[in-house]
Amino acid sequence: MKRRSVTPWRVALPALVVAMGLGLVLGGRPSLVDWRAARSVVFESDDWGLCGYAPDTAALAQLDPAVLQIGKTPQAYLTSTLEDSTAVAALAAVLAGARGRDGRPAVLQPNYIMGWQAPVQGEGEPDGRQLRDGILPAFHPRYQRPGLWDAVEGAVAAGVWYPEYHGLWHFDPGARAALCAADPAAAAAAARGLLLFPGSHESYELDDARPLPVLAAELAAGMAAFAGVFGRAPDAVIAPDYHWSHRHERLWRDAGLTVVQAQREQRHPDYEGLFGRLRKVLARVLRREGEHRLTHLDRNARLETAQLGDPALAMSRALRGVHRAWSRGEPAIVESHRVNYAHLDPRVAADGREALAGLLAALGREPLFLTDVEVARLSRGGVSWRRAGDGLLVRNLTHTRRPVVLPGGRLVFLAAGESATIRDAASGLPQQGGD
Ligand SMILES: [Zn+2]
Repeated sequence: MKRRSVTPWRVALPALVVAMGLGLVLGGRPSLVDWRAARSVVFESDDWGLCGYAPDTAALAQLDPAVLQIGKTPQAYLTSTLEDSTAVAALAAVLAGARGRDGRPAVLQPNYIMGWQAPVQGEGEPDGRQLRDGILPAFHPRYQRPGLWDAVEGAVAAGVWYPEYHGLWHFDPGARAALCAADPAAAAAAARGLLLFPGSHESYELDDARPLPVLAAELAAGMAAFAGVFGRAPDAVIAPDYHWSHRHERLWRDAGLTVVQAQREQRHPDYEGLFGRLRKVLARVLRREGEHRLTHLDRNARLETAQLGDPALAMSRALRGVHRAWSRGEPAIVESHRVNYAHLDPRVAADGREALAGLLAALGREPLFLTDVEVARLSRGGVSWRRAGDGLLVRNLTHTRRPVVLPGGRLVFLAAGESATIRDAASGLPQQGGD
């Protein structure tokens, strides 16, 4: 009988898997922050700035949604719309009504889509067969929102609005343009200002078929527009439809982004099936050890009132999610899309605000409201800084006095557990203590 030889990979592969598994279980370096004690809450909210899904109720009149083959797109989305100044101000007021343990208001991270496609205006009414590209702060002609940017500026100044990056289009713009040229139903929807088109639920901005240089140019354009509107570069990113791969992460990192949201939600052919999931776990372990420029965060609570249609239920589920995250020793990261706060049906937005207000009231002054970039910096070094409406907000969540390196290389020293706002950039001294 012939003896079977043991090929090296037969030993190496299982050994590698075991090693990775151990690495995962042991979890790498311990965090400098005790997240169980920090009881922090982060709000991540996608789709702000998106010129969709419908500009107004008239655009939906006598429309058979079946024509658009919208697949699994939830009903609540069909009648959602680009936020206006009233929606932003009303949401900002809810956030400002809550105070965290450090005396600062609750802060929401609206993740922005910066670009839009609108029908080309020929002679007479546009028929939607030809599209042109546009970018914020200019609005899609069907989505005029006077006063929106003033409301956003007010919310940023109040410390309740910390914009981050979502994407340029949210879908594959070339696929949509080609469809509008060929398909009368798609063209008719575009002419009405509707964002949906046949197959839009499976049209991905970061589709693998889209060349990386094109995506890099779009990222540069989107981030430049973002900086123009909000006066700073974004720190964090969430891929549209959670569809991205490590190739896109490289683009983000090279563009200066430092935080990737919703790692657990990632949907991509590379990470499907048993081997895909294994690949994702391995990639994650390797990243924890070797990646020092991108931090991956997970959403671990949901406040999606519009889809549930029940503010009390949405609120209680979110509250449970927050407490569970804390008990696991994680920052609570609450997902809550724009659809809950900007909608053609004013009751939907009112319900969304009611659920959020209820959650904030139930949490009381216990939480520390943080943003992604703060969680990332605190996890790495125990201290953080970020721009706030009234200066630089710095924090030390460790148990010892520590220096914080500010932009430009300046140092400030913070006592254990201290957070402060630096208003006087010249002196570099904290003007206001807290916590
Ligand atoms: Zn989105």
